[in-house]
Amino acid sequence: MIAPNDCKTSIGLDQVSVSTLKGVGSNLTAKLAKINVHSLQDLLFHLPIRYTDRTRITPIAALLPSMSAVIEGDVRSCDVVMGKRRSLVVRLHDTTGLVILRFFHFNNAQKQGFSQGARFRVFGEVSRGASGLEFYHPEYDLLDDANPLPMTQYLTPVYPATEGLTQARLRSLALQTLNYLDVYQLPELLPEKLRRQLNQCSLAEALRYLHQPPADADKDLLLASEHPFQQRLAYEELLAHHLSLLLVRHKTQQEGAHRLRVNTKLHNTFLEQLAFKLTKAQQRVFAEISGDLAKPLPMLRLIQGDVGSGKTVVAAMAALIAVANGKQAAIMAPTEILAEQHRLNFARWLEPLNIKIGWLTGKLTAKERRTQVAAIATGEAQVIIGTHALFQEKVQFADLGLVIIDEQHRFGVHQRLSLSQKGYQQGLNNSGSLRPHQLIMTATPIPRTLAMSAYADLDFSVIDELPPGRTPISTVVISDQRRGEVIERVRLGCEEGRQAYWVCTLIEESEALAAQAAQATAESLTMALPHLRIGLIHGRLKAAEKEAVMSAFKANSVDLLVATTVIEVGVDVPNASLMVIENPERLGLAQLHQLRGRVGRGSTASHCVLLYGSPLSQDSKARLNVMRESSDGFYIAEQDLLLRGPGEVFGTRQTGEIQFKIADILRDAQLLPSVKEGAEQLVAHHLALCEKIVLRWLGKSDIYLQV
Ligand code: ADP
Ligand code: MG
Repeated sequence: MIAPNDCKTSIGLDQVSVSTLKGVGSNLTAKLAKINVHSLQDLLFHLPIRYTDRTRITPIAALLPSMSAVIEGDVRSCDVVMGKRRSLVVRLHDTTGLVILRFFHFNNAQKQGFSQGARFRVFGEVSRGASGLEFYHPEYDLLDDANPLPMTQYLTPVYPATEGLTQARLRSLALQTLNYLDVYQLPELLPEKLRRQLNQCSLAEALRYLHQPPADADKDLLLASEHPFQQRLAYEELLAHHLSLLLVRHKTQQEGAHRLRVNTKLHNTFLEQLAFKLTKAQQRVFAEISGDLAKPLPMLRLIQGDVGSGKTVVAAMAALIAVANGKQAAIMAPTEILAEQHRLNFARWLEPLNIKIGWLTGKLTAKERRTQVAAIATGEAQVIIGTHALFQEKVQFADLGLVIIDEQHRFGVHQRLSLSQKGYQQGLNNSGSLRPHQLIMTATPIPRTLAMSAYADLDFSVIDELPPGRTPISTVVISDQRRGEVIERVRLGCEEGRQAYWVCTLIEESEALAAQAAQATAESLTMALPHLRIGLIHGRLKAAEKEAVMSAFKANSVDLLVATTVIEVGVDVPNASLMVIENPERLGLAQLHQLRGRVGRGSTASHCVLLYGSPLSQDSKARLNVMRESSDGFYIAEQDLLLRGPGEVFGTRQTGEIQFKIADILRDAQLLPSVKEGAEQLVAHHLALCEKIVLRWLGKSDIYLQV
């Protein structure tokens, strides 16, 4: 073991195991490994999530509920009180007032310790108790005139909680490790120029400060996580995440791709037989795509477009370019229903041009599957549509030139990357080292700041215009106590020849339970509305059954479709102009927006009824009001973000497993533009540093390093 005051070696802190520290045996090493802390560097980057201030004593009279404070006082009394629960009640006073310490778990020695007149220093959080302010189970120390207890000079860090590791233990490990900053190397990974540009302090200085902030630190800034040292580290962490995605892009683009050029004749024939004219936005985005495809680098492009903005036809035009160049295009949808709908649209648009459509989902019969797989392998199938079965099974493409992933918001970041890797690998089979181009489509509007981070590996196109002639959807928010009126409204609408959806939601994401709920709702609506033709669709139906229900609804032989949220994405039935969503408060706004986008697709005025379960919390009320006020997906996404925060909004779906140690993508949003710029500079000029930064912050397990 090397003592902290030996002279500095060339060994890096990332090379030194935590077991070097005093008191860290195999037991503790294992516990630390569980939270991904292996080296001294890892310990330094296990950063406090917040601080408590124990540097000064608060007069008892100045205590306020929910404040964390240190007080000093004398014991006036100590009693065991029999209330609802037996507790030890200690009354402590100073010259300004009196406060209660309450312990529900205590032993006799503890009770004896609080002898009348004894003086204590107490730290804890103040609560409002039955008889005034109380501390529940505070930390406390007996004060002794002969041996005064010095006040701590530093703010007390609070580390992310972990099982089996106390705060005290984590603090002492961090303090020990700080001493090793003088022994081992902690290289600055950001190039000097970038640091100067950002006006950044040294990393070691920032780490020292944050693990042990001096008493005179700007506490307000620290507690708000806005201190320059915190921002210094947050910047580097955001940079690491950004870089990891840029590295994926970089690696991908090192492999070339086939140049695919528009065949003008074919393209024009396609446009002529289309029943509508492309919007300006569709034309612009298509131009961006065809520009990418003409380059010898794999396209990596995300199309964002609100529900109903017409992404599918743009995807079809991209597929047409692949086919015109003798390549195959694969289109992957997240659900069977959506894949089926794409199949119909693509067949309608492309078959007249003599293009052969292939079809592959998990629900094909063995025989159908064999036929399809063979057609894909020989190249007979030119445009192949399917679910992730396309990439999960041993499907050999003859010559895959373009991969299109629709409604990507159904997939998390990691899933997206691994899917595209699979697509690429399959593309490699017959194309030498060249990779297929990739187009990703999403209807979830992502606030710009978040999008910059979550999709750093992709170029962006936005279809920011809806096809003409759509009438806006009017949305009302109604309590389920008025369910009868809503049912009456459905009856009137359907009798006028319109069609309606009735969507059932569940708290738990269990398809079985959701199916049951939808079934029960369908039954009760059938009783209430005997003259209507009512259909039912949920995730538990067989593919053929779903298909039958959907095509009946499309053909207008079903008036009212009772559904689970399986219809959330993509389903397109223009004559449906009324949607009732039960318990909308259970869903995120982005999801509600998706659902609501199923109506408002035709020229009749559409309505959406949000039938909430009362009573409704203030928060939910505010969120549903956003739905009532706006139909702009971007605005809704931004409001959702403000009301719920990114974790909730994007959950594991969007941000995947992204977890930040110190950064907070919303709070630190102002850093993102310079993070983006810094990351781009690094990849362009300091590639070797990039992986080191990713390793330091994301660890070896990071998927991006394995691509
Ligand atoms: P989304 O972007 O939500 O996937 P779709 O591609 O399903 O939207 O398009 C929604 C509907 O709008 C479809 O019926 C489609 O045929 C139609 N559509 C697409 N583009 C246009 C356009 N330029 N003019 C009129 N209708 C269009
Ligand atoms: Mg779509």
